[in-house]
Amino acid sequence: MARKPVPRLDFGDWYVTFPQRGRYIFLPADQLREAREEPPGQNECGLWLGRAESGLSVIIPVRLAVLRGGLPTVVFAVLHHGDQLRLAGYDVDFHEVRSVRVGESSRLIGQECQQCRAEIVRSADIVQCPLCQAAYCSDCWDFLANKRCYSRACNYAPVALTLAGEAAHD
Ligand SMILES: [Zn+2]
Ligand SMILES: [Zn+2]
Repeated sequence: MARKPVPRLDFGDWYVTFPQRGRYIFLPADQLREAREEPPGQNECGLWLGRAESGLSVIIPVRLAVLRGGLPTVVFAVLHHGDQLRLAGYDVDFHEVRSVRVGESSRLIGQECQQCRAEIVRSADIVQCPLCQAAYCSDCWDFLANKRCYSRACNYAPVALTLAGEAAHD
């Protein structure tokens, strides 16, 4: 499976990647596929995608109905991996956690899992924290649900566990 970038809003047929901190991507309500970089404004209907200072992904809808987990998002919302949105007639998934199989020459080899301290080896299936990129065994990542990333100075708190079908190669 080809690796898709994270964090992203995945529409199924296409996806939109979140910008770096301080930048915004705008999706016009009537042409969601026509994403463009633009700071938030009030004159057009649509959805802005941005990043909080912490690195978390936020959406800012303007006169666009957005449901997150079935509930309306009015001003803005911080998204968490696994969130399911409904916007302009589309069902959209939010992905930010990267699951990878450690490749032959990956720079992850030799790092330690932040939970169990096992050394990351070639061909291991690992999960990377979306904010600090620290590596975890897949099982150890699952253990983090409703806790915080163990990496120093990282406040990422996974809400949902890894989405199925996300395997990729690093
Ligand atoms: Zn581990
Ligand atoms: Zn982290």
